[in-house]
Amino acid sequence: MAKIGINIATGSIQKEDAIVGIDLGTTNSLVAIVRSDTREAIALKEIDGLSLVPSIVFFDENNQAQVGTAALDKLLTHPERTIYSAKRLMGKSYGDLSQDSHFFAYKIHDDGSDALVKVQIDDQFYSPIELSALILKELKSRAEHILKMPINRAVITVPAYFNDTQRQATRDAGKLAGLDVLRIVNEPTAASLAYGIGLDPKEEKTIAVYDLGGGTFDISILKINQGIFEVLSTNGDTYLGGDDLDRALVMHWKMQLEQAGITGNSSTLLQALRLAAEAAKKQLSTSDKASAVIEGIPLEITKTEFESLIQPLLDRTLQSCQQALHDAQLTAAQIDAVIMVGGSTRVPAVKNCVRDFFKKEVNDSLNPDEVVALGAAIQADILAGNNTDMLLLDITPLSLGIETLGGLMDVLIPRNAKIPNKAGRQYTTSKDGQSSLLINVYQGERDQVAHNRKLASFSLRNIPAMPAGLPKIDIQFLLDADGILKVSATELRSGVAQEIEVKAQYGLDDSMVEQMLLDSLTHAQEDMQTRALIEATTEANLMIETTEKFLINYAALISDSEQALTKTQIEKIKQAIQDKHKDAIQKTTEQLNEVTRPFAERVMDSALKDAMRGKKIL
Ligand code: ADP
Ligand code: MG
Repeated sequence: MAKIGINIATGSIQKEDAIVGIDLGTTNSLVAIVRSDTREAIALKEIDGLSLVPSIVFFDENNQAQVGTAALDKLLTHPERTIYSAKRLMGKSYGDLSQDSHFFAYKIHDDGSDALVKVQIDDQFYSPIELSALILKELKSRAEHILKMPINRAVITVPAYFNDTQRQATRDAGKLAGLDVLRIVNEPTAASLAYGIGLDPKEEKTIAVYDLGGGTFDISILKINQGIFEVLSTNGDTYLGGDDLDRALVMHWKMQLEQAGITGNSSTLLQALRLAAEAAKKQLSTSDKASAVIEGIPLEITKTEFESLIQPLLDRTLQSCQQALHDAQLTAAQIDAVIMVGGSTRVPAVKNCVRDFFKKEVNDSLNPDEVVALGAAIQADILAGNNTDMLLLDITPLSLGIETLGGLMDVLIPRNAKIPNKAGRQYTTSKDGQSSLLINVYQGERDQVAHNRKLASFSLRNIPAMPAGLPKIDIQFLLDADGILKVSATELRSGVAQEIEVKAQYGLDDSMVEQMLLDSLTHAQEDMQTRALIEATTEANLMIETTEKFLINYAALISDSEQALTKTQIEKIKQAIQDKHKDAIQKTTEQLNEVTRPFAERVMDSALKDAMRGKKIL
């Protein structure tokens, strides 16, 4: 299959361009490429010599975004308009984040549903996908500036533990930034490739990747066999990183300041301390002592003192390593190589404790905050077919998926996935007593199936009558080495099953693939809006249906005024649906929840009492 590049600006197809590797990090992001002349992977640096772009987005009063270094000091001056750690929000619902909400200084919109989160600034809402797209856009334009050529294709890395939704969100962010995302690669896999581990198909190795970044710690155990990376286990702490090392020193110095008579918790004092602590920490990575002056008081710290301050944090990372080994059913001695990733592994005490734990020298010769991007660039180079030593595996040119409610495309096997491949997901019915389910199989990159290519259609019949949402329908895609796609559907509660075979590439030529890719990029923005509208509408319709059923079933327990109020609210939702106004649909649906809550709770209470008296609910 030919590799296709698309110039978004001109809409033309180009066969020659660089494919970049992108590390989209929680704290910092960066771009790397493999140089065509020296075949060496390098991180792209601006004139200032910096390769890292802080993963921060600031919105001014006119909702214009500033990204990266330009947004850094806005963290202090405009905390409520400056978004950091957007990666932590990717593919998450508000419920997923409720434990962590204290971590964010900006407003995360709680719409009370299990929909994906948004960040609110003034009256604007930003999805984590849009925020990540802004960071990717900045990286893209930086790379274009440095390389003096258009950049349209990328390999982007994600943590090994990212689930399907989070990976898809990352792909969508790339698309929105005008990037054709050739592959999503696990961060530890990229780090391994950067060290040349996994490039030789004959190589068989088990490795550990220790990644201590700004705010997160990940340990991954990977098995490499014939160029395939398998994640055996992952562990870590999503709130443990360089920031915590800084905090340990801040606490220490704060005590010294208090002894010198300087008290108080003003944010200026704390911020000054935090910046001084981070600088001192970095200095201690190469020297034995560091110092600072805060409010006229000289402060000092020796490397030994610092190491004892952070020992408890290091111990926590080692406990995670222990657990990861345990989950992979391995001992430290069975690990062939240990790779150090993340800016915080520059701290000598970190390296020492990891070396002692695994009882072997660690790989730390590459710049730890560049190593993931370097590996992504190497993966990009392999996909570009430039690395002639590497066997290029067959890949699917277009995504394969099925149609879900509202005519949306749900991708099971993403484009550029290796062949053979298999993937599965569970679905359910949307109507009570639904006895058959029509499964439509599509190929393509657009969000609405109507814009994609229909491959096949079949029905799963004889599903026993059950309330909507109860059947568990497992759909499996099996793509074999010849490009034959086998789709099977099984209702797991009853065992009813059906399958079909299609030749996915039949009648598909390069120019069609090119056109479909181009369309998906040029329509990325509107596709995403349409998808959001359809999802909101589907959700609202389900809610209306449930509520109307409830009003009928429990009529005796609901007052006339409650009935009337609910019906008026339902009318408002229907109007919003008719207006195709996504925000209004979400808002009115939310309000319906408020309107029905009092009597819903009352009815449930009474139903429960009835049940306890031995009567049947319903
Ligand atoms: P992420 O993967 O979360 O985006 P990075 O890998 O870029 O993060 O790591 C950022 C962290 O590395 C910050 O906490 C920073 O203070 C720390 N760091 C960077 N350089 C050094 C150094 N020389 N010594 C110690 N820590 C460092
Ligand atoms: Mg990182």
